[in-house]
Amino acid sequence: MKYPIQNLSNNQKIEVKKFNSNEEISYVDLSCINCNLSDYKKLYDNDRHGILQKTVMCNNCGLVYSNPRMTKNSLEYFYSSNLYREIYQKSDDFEHSFKIKIEEANKNLETKKPNFEKYYPGLFVDFISDLNINYNSVCEIGAGYGTNLIYFTKLGKKTFGLEPSIKLTKITNNEINIKQGFINDLKDNHDIIILKHVFEHLYDPINDLKKIKNHTNNYLFIEVPGNIKRIASIQNAHNFYFTENTLNQIVSKSGFDLIKSTYCKDTEFIFALYKKNNSTNKIFDYNYINEVKKIKNIYNNDNIRFFISKTLKILGVYNLLLPFRKMVLKILKLSK
Ligand SMILES: [Zn+2]
Repeated sequence: MKYPIQNLSNNQKIEVKKFNSNEEISYVDLSCINCNLSDYKKLYDNDRHGILQKTVMCNNCGLVYSNPRMTKNSLEYFYSSNLYREIYQKSDDFEHSFKIKIEEANKNLETKKPNFEKYYPGLFVDFISDLNINYNSVCEIGAGYGTNLIYFTKLGKKTFGLEPSIKLTKITNNEINIKQGFINDLKDNHDIIILKHVFEHLYDPINDLKKIKNHTNNYLFIEVPGNIKRIASIQNAHNFYFTENTLNQIVSKSGFDLIKSTYCKDTEFIFALYKKNNSTNKIFDYNYINEVKKIKNIYNNDNIRFFISKTLKILGVYNLLLPFRKMVLKILKLSK
């Protein structure tokens, strides 16, 4: 099945074409990281940019993941390519967006009861605060500009961030405590480690969870795009697409007990808090057969939605009908 491609600039189209025909890019098969089987159904042949990255669903446990995926060498090539710059780093005005992000964060620093109906930047902090856990130091991996950490500074916590991009760490240098690096560069221990829209990018999440377990005194927070009523947007920078079930089982197998997970109705992002376990590990359990059925179901609904949008676009009435889209989808029971 072809995944719908979003609007691309001419430059982006050229780079995608070049990348897809580059013979130096090689792919490897990956077994399911949750149940270890290699029995899958292909969902899509390409991602939302048109890159020929396939997405599959494990027929046994329902995990959705990129497979076959780029080898580590090809991935390094991808991240240093023009294509990556063209599609993922288009807004190049880092300094300007840093200031805007800081201003935005500073405007809404008050912690309140979390509201999962509509997404807002501080929702993850409200989710964590609502669980009444005890912690003093916070470390965010993939901290970007460090704007997520401002919330914790305001709460009186000790904050630290690791960010792979040299460019981003340079901007934040004096204002927020961020060092260039990633999971392998963890040195000290922290009461809680934060992975916000990072876990779905990891190449070897099981191994990374082991390292994280060694560097957290207690807690791990993860926020990822979820497959709830739709499958999360397909992009080749993501290696995995989780439901609460698959995420909780994978993390619990690596020695963490689930405290709570939930999702935002608006964006379908999953929020989950875990506690490092020191003696008995409660592996999170779910029904594999129901999970596979659920994924097949939302996959089929997605494809009907894609078909309707495509037909309306071809007919030239898509924009005209846009205001009624929600209503129509509701009637068809395809909406969230
Ligand atoms: Zn599986």
